[in-house]
Amino acid sequence: MDFHSVDNNSTRRIAALKQRVDEIKKHDFYFYNQAVEEMLPDSKVRVNGRVMGMYASYSYLGLVGHPRINEAAKRAVDKFGTGTNGVRTLAGTLTIHNELEETISNFKHTESAITYTSGYVTNLTTISSLMGRGDYVFSDKINHASIVDGCLMSGAEFRRFRHNDMEHLEGLLKNAPAEVSKLVIADSVFSMDGDIIDLPKIVELSKKYNAWLMIDEAHSVGVLGKTGTGIEEHFGMGDVIDIKMGTLSKTIPSVGGYVAGKKELIDFLRHGSRAYIFSAALPPAQAAAANEAFKVILDEPERLDRLNANTQQFIGGLKSMGFDTLLTETAIVPVLCGTDEKAFELTKRCQEQDVFVLPVVSPAVQEGLSRLRATVTAAHNPADIEHAMDVIYQAGKAMGMVK
Ligand SMILES: *Cc1c(COP(=O)(O)O)cnc(C)c1O
Repeated sequence: MDFHSVDNNSTRRIAALKQRVDEIKKHDFYFYNQAVEEMLPDSKVRVNGRVMGMYASYSYLGLVGHPRINEAAKRAVDKFGTGTNGVRTLAGTLTIHNELEETISNFKHTESAITYTSGYVTNLTTISSLMGRGDYVFSDKINHASIVDGCLMSGAEFRRFRHNDMEHLEGLLKNAPAEVSKLVIADSVFSMDGDIIDLPKIVELSKKYNAWLMIDEAHSVGVLGKTGTGIEEHFGMGDVIDIKMGTLSKTIPSVGGYVAGKKELIDFLRHGSRAYIFSAALPPAQAAAANEAFKVILDEPERLDRLNANTQQFIGGLKSMGFDTLLTETAIVPVLCGTDEKAFELTKRCQEQDVFVLPVVSPAVQEGLSRLRATVTAAHNPADIEHAMDVIYQAGKAMGMVK
């Protein structure tokens, strides 16, 4: 089929996006999809032959490339090969899958856990299996796209509350019929802003209005809490979240997603969620890597100490230079720019000085709130962070963003 031979909504959408991308490329502002040639120590990478400081990675504890984790993955390949050639329900379940799920349920202090092949698919299938037409879901306005897509896919009534605004949430809960099933859902750490959901209040409201509570811990596993087990530990709250969702692709240097919770819930998902039943199981190497990584987090607590120190240095430094970092308290540090152009230009100036940061623009964030979305990890050393901040500062100064 010739893409351009017809003129309809789809071909117009394709043409409009192509035009936007072409325009960005024309101004030499296109930084997406750059290939990393090599991972180097101290959170550095080689890109286009140049060694750059990596400030856009989610490897919060610097676990990617960890010898113990690499070794576990290699052993799994030797034992099981490289694929599962089946879905979990049929021939695809390996002992390493069961071990991984047990490790996760121990780490999260729950009765049980289930894994899927991506965090994205975990949200889609979990939300749409639990909720349906006539039910109500209540979702924070800046929740991750996979949560939004799961809510839409479920066919439930979709209510969005203003970001971390518990009064607004309560108003929406109050207005829903008493007898329907309700699900309240939010990111633990918001993936674009780096701030933390008000867990005590959202737990209280979910209880009061008889709603399930689901929290997406993509950016809090290994990051929040004294030992890195996540948001409940951060608030000292014990087991208060009904559906604890997370990814295996951020702090955990693998791929996949999980849900941890009561045995009844996990058994239901194992027999009733379509991404488990109709999509092939996690490859052995990735399951083994994830399994080992959860153990390394607990065995090497100094990594979390370094992450916390680096985070304080990075946020404190950028703030004192005059940048607006919104309400972040975590390793995700937005550097607010405003327009798309400003975000692209700041990125370009930083990358020219070998600081690898990336811009986030609409529709991923609200128009007018375009930004650098910088991250810091346990693997950075303080002198490199100081240097990176100086590069960002000089660039921001040249653009008139800071004095
Ligand atoms: C990254 C992310 C996901 C998706 O996880 P993948 O494993 O990359 O598919 C889901 N939720 C949040 C909040 C995320 O940041």
